[in-house]
Amino acid sequence: MENVNIYKLVKNFPLLGDVRKGEPVLWINPNKQNQLLNNGEFTFDMVEDAATRLQRFSSYIKVAFPQTSQQEGIIESPIKEIVSMQKQIEAKYEIELPGKLLLKCDHSLPISGSIKARGGIYEVLKYAENLAIQHGYLSIHDDYAKLQDPFFKEFFSQFKIAVGSTGNLGLSIGIMGAKLGFQVTVHMSHDAKTWKKQMLRSKGVHVIEYESDYSLAVEEGRKQAELDPTCHFIDDENSVDLFSGYAVSALRLQKQLQEVNIQVDENHPLFVYLPCGVGGGPGGVAYGLKAIYGEHVHIFFGEPLQSPCMLIGMMTGLHDQIAVSDIGLTNVTEADGLAVGRASKFVGKMMDPIISGCYTVDDDFLFDSLIGMYEQENIFMEPSAHAGVFGPIQLVKEGKDYLEATYLVEKMTKSTHIVWSTGGDMVPTEQRQEYLQKRNRNK
Ligand SMILES: *Cc1c(COP(=O)(O)O)cnc(C)c1O
Repeated sequence: MENVNIYKLVKNFPLLGDVRKGEPVLWINPNKQNQLLNNGEFTFDMVEDAATRLQRFSSYIKVAFPQTSQQEGIIESPIKEIVSMQKQIEAKYEIELPGKLLLKCDHSLPISGSIKARGGIYEVLKYAENLAIQHGYLSIHDDYAKLQDPFFKEFFSQFKIAVGSTGNLGLSIGIMGAKLGFQVTVHMSHDAKTWKKQMLRSKGVHVIEYESDYSLAVEEGRKQAELDPTCHFIDDENSVDLFSGYAVSALRLQKQLQEVNIQVDENHPLFVYLPCGVGGGPGGVAYGLKAIYGEHVHIFFGEPLQSPCMLIGMMTGLHDQIAVSDIGLTNVTEADGLAVGRASKFVGKMMDPIISGCYTVDDDFLFDSLIGMYEQENIFMEPSAHAGVFGPIQLVKEGKDYLEATYLVEKMTKSTHIVWSTGGDMVPTEQRQEYLQKRNRNK
């Protein structure tokens, strides 16, 4: 805030000097402890509770969104080995990337095509369940397919849901909320893409646009919602429900890795690279993975050069008390899902003992990677999602000290690297073409 003394901070945290200059960095977290913070605020029970709740809703999801019927109404994405991309990365960046490279395909999550289909949809479902149970219309032993009944749509239409978003969270909450019958308002920051606003409006969602960035859109949404007792505000900066919904992914991933016989243990380290905006999505996943794999998982968050809010918050210990503008960065990036200037305090503190570090990534890399992934693997991911792809490259280039300190150097050939692809399937064709032509424009 106003009192952030940059000169003192740079003196104490020399890496901040490079961050300020907009250079790609790798920050290693000195506070990692390989165990979860136990402050009573959040426990793994809450993740298990979320997994069970999602199971209860699966019979409803299956009928309401037929694209999930093959998965029995469970919203999940596959993991995929990306060998061609791995080879291209090695050749292009002149590195050796030992171990297996996998993509966690959240860009293809059903219903809303991004990682927000985890947390966002979960919080809407939980709110709906609470309301229906409180009013005596639902019991947890019912078949939730009954929520398809017009009676429920009528019932939920008395209630409102509001959220502030750069786009994808708004999409997830708008689509799910409108399907159940809620009146949904999405407060969109200026970064939000036009097609996301149009898609929401076409579903009857009320979209309010702001000239300001994400933090102010959230603030405005929160203020308006507080005035209305029938409105549930989904608070991307502080929500424990969102976080729980994201964390369920770790239980699912554990099963998927077992199915393809990928071991994670003392001799087989797992590296996971997650694009980070305000922190809830990657934070929830990281929490779940740490609870399951402990010291055998090494988690890194990637952020744009101009929006490294989690990196600076965790490095300085100031968390939400420092914004990227305080150190002279613009928070302007093509990675709209990551255009967040101030991190969640709740998540940053929780990540302190958990994640291995954060790195920053150039927007140009995001587009090179977008084209590479499309050409090599025939996979389309939106720019934000490519912040994960830079993780293994940056680790190999800058992470030697970390690998030595954790005795991992010899184990790297037996390691698994998971790039968490966070979004893409909803991007319309014309927008895809525009992204795919970026290379020509740049050269
Ligand atoms: C929201 C989002 C993220 C990051 O999630 P946060 O909870 O904001 O940290 C990453 N990638 C995409 C595509 C997103 O939409």
